[in-house]
Amino acid sequence: MCTWRALVLGCALLAPPAHADVDERLARAEEVKRTSMAAFDQEIGRIMADLSRLTAVQRDRLDYLLAWRDTFTGDYVAAINEFERLIAQSGDEVVRFRSRATLLNALTLARRHSEAYEHLTLLVDDVDAMPDRAARDQALGVIAQLLNQGAQYKESLAFSQRLMQEGEQAWARCGAQFLIVEAKVRSGDLRDVSPESLQWADRCSTDGEAVFAGLLRAQLARLHLRNNRPEAALAMLAAHAEAMAATRYPSLAIDVETIQAQAYLAQEKYADADATAASAIAKVAPGVASESLGQAWRVRYLVAKAQGDNAGALSAHEQLLATEMAYANDIGQRALAYQMARFQARANALQIESLNQQNELLTLQQEFASKNTQAARLTIALLLTVLAFGLFWAIRAVRLRRHFQLLAQRDSLTQVSNRRYFVEQVTSALEQLQRHQQGAVLILVDLDYFKLINDRYGHAEGDEVLQRAAAALRGQVRKGELIGRIGGEEFAILLPRFEADMALQRAESFRRALHTVPYGPAEARRSLTASFGIVSSANAGYNLRDLMMRADAALYVAKNSGRDRVEVFRETSIETSEQALASPVSAGSDERL
Ligand code: GH3
Ligand code: MG
Ligand code: MG
Repeated sequence: MCTWRALVLGCALLAPPAHADVDERLARAEEVKRTSMAAFDQEIGRIMADLSRLTAVQRDRLDYLLAWRDTFTGDYVAAINEFERLIAQSGDEVVRFRSRATLLNALTLARRHSEAYEHLTLLVDDVDAMPDRAARDQALGVIAQLLNQGAQYKESLAFSQRLMQEGEQAWARCGAQFLIVEAKVRSGDLRDVSPESLQWADRCSTDGEAVFAGLLRAQLARLHLRNNRPEAALAMLAAHAEAMAATRYPSLAIDVETIQAQAYLAQEKYADADATAASAIAKVAPGVASESLGQAWRVRYLVAKAQGDNAGALSAHEQLLATEMAYANDIGQRALAYQMARFQARANALQIESLNQQNELLTLQQEFASKNTQAARLTIALLLTVLAFGLFWAIRAVRLRRHFQLLAQRDSLTQVSNRRYFVEQVTSALEQLQRHQQGAVLILVDLDYFKLINDRYGHAEGDEVLQRAAAALRGQVRKGELIGRIGGEEFAILLPRFEADMALQRAESFRRALHTVPYGPAEARRSLTASFGIVSSANAGYNLRDLMMRADAALYVAKNSGRDRVEVFRETSIETSEQALASPVSAGSDERL
């Protein structure tokens, strides 16, 4: 108890200074922000009740938290402006660093990818020197996440593995584990569920990191599916359904339902598959294209196809195409933005260096002009050599840019154009052909019974067969013709200035070329076959989507009349493919292998 004297003197001194409890509140808000928005708002409310007491740094920390809140409630523009202001103006190193880390999240959510990757290179430069460990962990997580989203898996692993080693708190280690598994699954390094990753999922649940535990389990359930274990996938999700639902994390709920729908489809429980896929699709915000959304539409398409609902199959297929195109486009843009940012950083450094050298040269030339000695000439010659070296590197940088462009345009497995780039090129080629009133033919190629090749000889052999198949097709493609890998084991070829009957011969030569592709063990070598659907602009116009759908209908007919054949689209193809759909789907025959 304070006496009146003490009250006047001592207690006033004993009471913590105002900024100390503000610091505590800021720290508490920081701590609860990932787990409870209500508790976060309460702390922020108390701090804001007395704004005038805040020091400049406290004010910045508060502004950072408010902008963080804007990011997660979807007000990206406000958040981005605020973070940029803090990066430029805050006197506190940690605030500037954290602002950049969260700015990366906000820019990505706002789909401003080039800016995001520009800031990423700056954050990478600063991360080693950051003394605040929590801020450094946050940045390592954000960097690894962004690199994953831009399909830079190897680079991402370097950061997530560092986060795993250095991370102090459970969220850091669980986040790191999730990012590691995601990168390895996407790059194909992790092909099946490992005991270690299962242990991690349990450990993260116990540590209260339910979101990361859930995301991790979703990845593992996908691996069960990929290895033909739909029951195990469903069991894993069922065992943790409540905990996953309790996170109320929207993309997790969508992932879970999509995986369930895929598992039901594999079990031929069509009604469950369709209803679950529909529920997942309904949860996706409009305008967002994700991998799960594409997979959910694929389930609905395959269910409709299996049940002979042709109209349903066609409309689901249209959605599937649109989603996959948008998603591939998004990933491509991110990958390109990343490479461009790296290129830009390097080019800037080179330019500065080269300008410095030019300046030095000019000064020296002036200095030595009056003396005109032998030594001066030698020095200038030496500097000119250095400048030439700088120019050499600048030219190399231009070449690198071309290299990065190719990276974003090619399918990394087969080296033909990826879907996004193929669509882009074909769309513009078709526009031009239409303007000049010249015809074109689109050929769709779908390898026969490819799933059985994977099942029998493993995914790695499947990958090699895909590479050989693409090489065989490429060997037949002539100058001016376009080829792309538009799906897992599907290719498309555009033959400009062709009519359907001429194209038939070409398609036959593609078909024969694939016969030369071997697979299977040496003692029982087999050769590949594929089915072909052909359509001409004379039949379907110049809209790529219309051409694709009609070529696909012809392809159905080819598949259903025994495979290893070429079908040209006719108006009857749609009816025939309807009939084919109405009869039970002809499954891959094991005898063939
Ligand atoms: P169909 O003759 O009716 O076309 O039968 P299919 O087995 O070829 O067709 P389905 O669409 O059922 O299976 C395609 C398979 O292609 C399923 C998938 O696992 C596999 N696949 C897709 N992309 C890749 C890839 O990049 N590598 C490997 N190895 N397999 C892939
Ligand atoms: Mg296929
Ligand atoms: Mg196939």
